[in-house]
Amino acid sequence: MERILNFIDGEARAAVSGEWLDVHAPATGSVYAQLADSDGRDVDLAVAAAERAYPAWRDLGREGRSNALLKLASLIERDTEAFVADESRDNGKPVALARRVDIPRAIANLRFFATAILHFSSEAHAMDDTALNYTDRQPFGVAGCISPWNLPLYLFTWKIAPALAAGNCVVAKPSEATPLTAYRMSLLCNEAGIPPGVLNIVHGLGPKVGSAIVAHPDVPAISFTGGTRTGAEIARVAAPMFKKLSLELGGKNPVLVFADCDFEQMLRTTVRSSFTNQGQICLCGSRILIERSIYDRFRDAFVERVRALRVGDPADATSDLGAVVSQPHLEKVLSYIELARQEGGRVLCGGERVLLGGALANGWYLAPTVIEGLGPACRTNQEEIFGPVVTLQPFDGDAHAVELANATPYGLASVIWTRDLQRAHRVARALQAGIVWVNCWMVRDLRTPFGGVKQSGVGREGGLDALRFFTEAKNVCVRL
Ligand code: NDP
Repeated sequence: MERILNFIDGEARAAVSGEWLDVHAPATGSVYAQLADSDGRDVDLAVAAAERAYPAWRDLGREGRSNALLKLASLIERDTEAFVADESRDNGKPVALARRVDIPRAIANLRFFATAILHFSSEAHAMDDTALNYTDRQPFGVAGCISPWNLPLYLFTWKIAPALAAGNCVVAKPSEATPLTAYRMSLLCNEAGIPPGVLNIVHGLGPKVGSAIVAHPDVPAISFTGGTRTGAEIARVAAPMFKKLSLELGGKNPVLVFADCDFEQMLRTTVRSSFTNQGQICLCGSRILIERSIYDRFRDAFVERVRALRVGDPADATSDLGAVVSQPHLEKVLSYIELARQEGGRVLCGGERVLLGGALANGWYLAPTVIEGLGPACRTNQEEIFGPVVTLQPFDGDAHAVELANATPYGLASVIWTRDLQRAHRVARALQAGIVWVNCWMVRDLRTPFGGVKQSGVGREGGLDALRFFTEAKNVCVRL
């Protein structure tokens, strides 16, 4: 059986403990690999390797670092089909999605930050004839990067690429549920010319490995993407140590459908924004708010489209949805559907497991689920489910739409469907969210700030924000 090893100081290594964790394939529910079950000792080795490598990596300069990251991107691109198959096997997502989104985006992340660093500049503030201030931005040493299972290589590279481009060394932990593509990538680092110790990947459980990275005194900055509860725990540990923190957390994203929208375009995109990656994208819209005058029309047309989605083998190019990531996650999503029923919701379609035959009989498949009849205050409309489940709520007028949209503790992304330009701007401004899409969804320009408000996170990643996070700013004031 394949073994997934740590990557420390340029070498693939077992955990110091010598222990292993099982890694499951969601499509079949069976164990397909073993993962190094690391702990604080492995993190200590990784941090020490990163500290040793740091001065030379920093001094390699922007072009040297850029070239190494570009080479890594090209090697992943060369092996695209292997990465696609691995991502799908590890996560349960359709291969078609991994081929269209996950792996190209991981490559794009590396290329984007490898070139962004070449254009990165900082500010100067002249004080008439008195003095000139300039902002010197330098890397700080070792960055800790912790990423989740839903978009494994995509979110992993989103963090490590700016950290490395800026001149830091990295100790990173992918989710223990989906470690495979980060491991595959680590095996390409030496060929890419990334010196030993610059990128270290420590696999294992969050409470053992993730928490050791967060608590390590020689890791002054943590970039984390994951659940809000884990983010709060990380902040509790890191804040008294005065670490830099970037937290990208959960969401309960609203989709606002106004009666004047382009109905067909809205419908097509809303099916995608609800169920892409089995609804396991932090940006998926899980609360669909519909202007009352088109509520029935929307509901009937939407449910018809959702019923036509094909849940099936992730390896089959015709599958629209694959498996959800794990047995506990399947049970969590099913428990929320049960909760919705108890709260008085009507399940319009889905609401149950999908049982496939043969080798897939024990896979973790869920039918895409649409629920109506629930008010904004119930738990189903307040808590993040993070699966193929959406609710429908009618609204009357702009103010009511905004009130419903903002009525959760989260504030990550939102979508507005309208042809009224002024309303689009007005509502976009009123929404409590870090990201607003108007008449589209998941259109991403990597230069834009990315992050959430309220319990969806602290700080922004993407573009200059990421490069600023991974450097320290120092004002130098020179008398003229
Ligand atoms: P978790 O918070 O459970 O885990 C995220 C990562 O943190 C994993 O690598 C996990 O390891 C690790 N971890 C767990 N406990 C600790 C700890 N005490 N200290 C340090 N690290 C720890 O999230 P999920 O993996 O379940 O991901 C789903 C969540 O991520 C959803 O809430 C989703 O909304 C959010 N998300 C947010 C995005 C955003 O940009 N805002 C984007 C994508 C997802 P392990 O896997 O071993 O437990």
